[in-house]
Amino acid sequence: MQPRVLIETIKERCRVCYTCVRECPAKAIRIVTGQAQVVPERCIGCGNCVHVCSQRAKQVLSSVESVDARLLAARTDSAVKVAAIVAPSFPGEFPTCDYTQVVGMIRALGFTHVCEVAFGADLVADRYRRLLAENTNNRYVATSCPSVVAYVERYSPDLVPNLAPIVSPMIAMARVLKRMHGDDIGIVFLGPCIAKKAEAESGNVAGDVDDVLTFLELRQMLQDRGITAESASPGEFDPPHAGLGALFPISRGLLQAAEIQEDLVSGRVICAEGRTRFVEAVREFEAGDTEASLLEVLCCEGCIMGAGMSDDQPLFRRRASVSRFVRLRAATLDPRVWKAEMDRYAGLDLSRKFEAMDQRWPVPLAADEFGEIMAMMGKFRPEDELNCGACGYDTCREHAIAIFKGLAESEMCLPYTIEQLRKTVRELAVSNDQLASAQVALIQSEKLASMGQLAAGIAHEVNNPLGVVIMFAHLLLEEYPADTKIGNDLRMIVDQADRCKKIVAGLLHFARQNKVTAARVHLPGLIDDVLRAHPLPPNVEVRIDHDKADLVAEVDHDQIVQVLTNLINNAVAAMPNGGRLTLRAAAVDGTVRISVNDTGVGITKENMERLFQPFFTTKPIGMGTGLGLAISYGIVKMHHGDIEATSNADPAVGPTGTTFTVTLPRRRAYDGEPEKGAPRGNRAAD
Ligand code: ADP
Ligand code: MG
Repeated sequence: MQPRVLIETIKERCRVCYTCVRECPAKAIRIVTGQAQVVPERCIGCGNCVHVCSQRAKQVLSSVESVDARLLAARTDSAVKVAAIVAPSFPGEFPTCDYTQVVGMIRALGFTHVCEVAFGADLVADRYRRLLAENTNNRYVATSCPSVVAYVERYSPDLVPNLAPIVSPMIAMARVLKRMHGDDIGIVFLGPCIAKKAEAESGNVAGDVDDVLTFLELRQMLQDRGITAESASPGEFDPPHAGLGALFPISRGLLQAAEIQEDLVSGRVICAEGRTRFVEAVREFEAGDTEASLLEVLCCEGCIMGAGMSDDQPLFRRRASVSRFVRLRAATLDPRVWKAEMDRYAGLDLSRKFEAMDQRWPVPLAADEFGEIMAMMGKFRPEDELNCGACGYDTCREHAIAIFKGLAESEMCLPYTIEQLRKTVRELAVSNDQLASAQVALIQSEKLASMGQLAAGIAHEVNNPLGVVIMFAHLLLEEYPADTKIGNDLRMIVDQADRCKKIVAGLLHFARQNKVTAARVHLPGLIDDVLRAHPLPPNVEVRIDHDKADLVAEVDHDQIVQVLTNLINNAVAAMPNGGRLTLRAAAVDGTVRISVNDTGVGITKENMERLFQPFFTTKPIGMGTGLGLAISYGIVKMHHGDIEATSNADPAVGPTGTTFTVTLPRRRAYDGEPEKGAPRGNRAAD
C-alpha cells in the first residue's frame, strides 16, 4: 500500500532554502527541479519541516472535511455518536481558557462525547509498569510517540522487536470508548501531532480511530463556526476521568504516570526528546551503548511542542499550563472511582505489533560512484569536502548519498553554486564586452552604409553632366591654342573637371558601385609590385613578414593594389620623421589577412570612429581628399572582406603607431550569391 502523503509543499511558496532538508531527522525531503517535496515512504510525520518553514509552504493533510461530515451525520441522526478524544496537551494549546470552556467549545461543534485521552494514558502507563516488571531482561523502546515508532521501523529496523508492544494512549482511549459505547461510535482524536494521522491507519491499530484532527484544525473549525470560549457553555469531560496520564505530553510524563521514576537514577531508563537527541538516543540504544531497559523518547520537545499546535506559546508556559491542569484535576479526582475504572479496563487488549520498513541508505557507496557525484560538485580532494551543512546534510558525503538516491541535487552545494555563479558572471562580462564592441561596429557600418547610398546617388547624378562638361571643354581646347588667355582658362576647367571625375569615381568605389574582376593572385607578389611602384622615403624602413602558408586569393588585382597603396601612403604620411613600416600577409581559416603597420603618430580615439567616412581627413587642404580609406573600405567590402584599424596616439600609453588589417576570403563569392552569414538585402549598403 502506498503510504499516505501527510505533508505537501505549496509550490508557489517554496523558496528552496533547504531548511526543511536540514531539520528533517529522517532525511525525507527530496529536492526536485528546485522544489522541496516530502517523500511519503521516508516521512515519519514529525512535522519539523512544517514548523521550520518560514514561508509556510508545507501543508498538512487536512481532516476537517471528513470530521465535518461525521458531525453532520450525528446532528441529523440521533443514533449516530461521535466522540472527541482530547489529547492531554490541550491546556498548552488553550492556556488562557478554563478546561471546561475547551470542553464546551468542542461540544458546541456537535460531538456527542468529549473524553480525555489521558485516561488511555493511565492504562498505557500501567501496562508499561507491568511490562518492565515482568520482563526484566528485555530492553524496550517506548512506543507512545508515533514518529519515534515510524523512525525505528524505517531507520533502525533491527530494533523493531524492542518496540514496546503496547498501543499509544490515543488507541487505548479509543478502545475504552468502543467497549463502553459499542464499535459504531465514531472516534475523532484532537491533538498536537501530525504523525497521529498516519498512526490511526497503521498496522493492527488501523480503524480504532476514525479521524485525527490537529489543534490547529480544531481552531479553524471553531473559527469557521464562530464558536468562542465565551460563547460556548462550559462543560465537563465525559467519564472515565484521568489521573496522572495527563502528564504524558511533557517529557518523562510516561514515567511519572507509570511510577517508574526511580529507575531514572539507576540508569535503567533513558529519556530523550527533540529531533536530534531522539535520533542519537535511538542510535546509541541500538548500538548497545547503554544499559537501559527502557528508552523513553519523544520526537518533539514533548507533545506540547507538536507541529499540530499553534506556535505562539513558549515551551515552559505550555508545560506550566499542563501541570496546572493536572494539579487541579488531582485535587478533585476521587481515587476510588479512578481505581474502579482502571480495574474495569485492566483486561482490555492494548497490544500492538510493528513491522520493519527498511529505508536505510546503503553506505558506503562504491568508490567510483561516489567520486563521480563529488566531482559533479567540484570536489576532487578530501580538502574540498567542506561539510558546511548549507545543503541541509551534515556532511558532503551524506549529501552525495542523497544525490545518489535521487533525493538531492548537486546545485544544493552552496560553495559549488557560488563558484558556478562566479564563473557565469565572468563569462557574462566577457560576452557583454564582445556584444558592446559588436554593437559599436554595427552602428559604424550602418552609418557608412547610409553614406554610401547618398554618395552613390550624388555620384550618378553628377557623372553625366560632368562628362558633358569635360567633352565640350576638350572640344573648345582644340579650337583655342594653349598659350592664349581663353586656352589657359579652358585648361583650368578641364583640370578641375578631371579632379571632380576622380572624386566621383572614388565615391562610386566607396559605394561599391563598381565591378570586381577577380583572378587568383599571389598576395606577397602583389605587395612587392606596390612597393616597387611607390618608392618610400629613405627614413622609412620596410619590413616584410609573411606567413609561410599558401597566400593566394581570388581578388581584383588592381583594386587591391589601390587599397594597399592608400594604406601605405597613409602610413608614410603618419611618419614624417621616419619610422618602420611592416607588411605582413597570413592565412587564417579560409581567409588571407594583410596587415600594414607603422610606427607613426597614431590615430586619436575620436578620429577612429570617422576614419572610413568619405572626405574625412586631418591633412591640410590640397594634401588629402579624405577618400583613400573610404575607397579602400568600399573595395574590401566588394570582396566580401573586412578592414579594421587599431592604433595608439598617446605616447604615455605606449609606442604610438597604427595597424590596418585587411581580411579577404580566399575564394570569391559569386556575384549575387550572398556572403555566408551576411544578411540578405541591399548588398551595397552592407
Ligand atoms: P587622406 O589620406 O586623404 O587624409 P584617408 O581616408 O586616406 O584620407 O585617411 C583619412 C585620415 O585618416 C587621414 O587624414 C589621417 O588622419 C587618418 N589616417 C589614416 N591612416 C593613418 C595612419 N596610418 N596613421 C595615422 N593616421 C592615419
Ligand atoms: Mg590617404
